[in-house]
Amino acid sequence: RVPEAHELSEQDGQIVVGARVSLSQLEHFCRERIPEFSRLMRIFASPQIKNKGTLVGNIANASPIADTLPFLYVADAEVELLSLRGTRRVNINQFYTGYKQLDMAPDELISRVVIPVPGQSELLRLYKVSNRKDLDISTFTAAIRLKLTGQRIAAACIAYGGVGPTVMRLPQTEAFLQGQALEAGVFARAGEIARSEIKPISDVRASADYRLQLAENILLKFYAELGETVSEPALS
Ligand SMILES: Cc1cc2nc3c(=O)[nH]c(=O)nc-3n(C[C@H](O)[C@H](O)[C@H](O)COP(=O)(O)OP(=O)(O)OC[C@H]3O[C@@H](n4cnc5c(N)ncnc54)[C@H](O)[C@@H]3O)c2cc1C
Repeated sequence: RVPEAHELSEQDGQIVVGARVSLSQLEHFCRERIPEFSRLMRIFASPQIKNKGTLVGNIANASPIADTLPFLYVADAEVELLSLRGTRRVNINQFYTGYKQLDMAPDELISRVVIPVPGQSELLRLYKVSNRKDLDISTFTAAIRLKLTGQRIAAACIAYGGVGPTVMRLPQTEAFLQGQALEAGVFARAGEIARSEIKPISDVRASADYRLQLAENILLKFYAELGETVSEPALS
């Protein structure tokens, strides 16, 4: 009755994911198109859960540690909402208004998600920190996306999960990184700023202090791993 719910397509640089598309289907579809997102989905839950579970369910469940959300934030994905009144789209960065609070009316459902595909030359890294690698709930999640101009950062998008009531963008860290060179000291300072932008809580999975340390260290890890993907002259 909602034909678009089964859609899984790529058009004009955007991937459209219907509400009934399983995470396994999406993982396979993104393997060549957004390899980093596909890689993250490999360590999401288990194959059995991914064969049934959906991206839209992960979004609507509204957990601040939902594994797909940091990527959707930095990709500027849009959620399409359907009701008898028609359809509307909401940028995922504005979709959550508080813990488990959504900009979704009682008569609406999510029909599709539209994901702009990051450019080939951009740097995208997604992180899931959990006690166990497989089939474990995340303690902390992160997405870091950089656009480069030559050896400088033209734009930075950073989203963290598990550090507040919703997944959060880090506007001060993003603003600091813009225009900077790819240097160790830059990412060390960015980590300090990131730490100052969040107020995580302690819970059964980790202490607030541990999450603060992760918020800082993940940017150092990002820099340390750059050497594997960026040519040497861009790194100093
Ligand atoms: C053992 C186990 C392991 C898990 N591991 C992970 C993990 O590693 N990472 C992770 O992020 N999550 C994990 N999860 C959570 C869950 O599997 C995911 O959130 C999954 O994506 C949910 O998808 P679903 O289609 O089953 O949603 P459902 O469970 O069916 O729905 C979730 C919520 O979304 C609402 N909803 C569903 N579809 C729509 C729609 N179209 N419009 C509006 N609302 C809708 C439902 O009413 C419900 O409130 C795990 C769960 C289990 C049980």
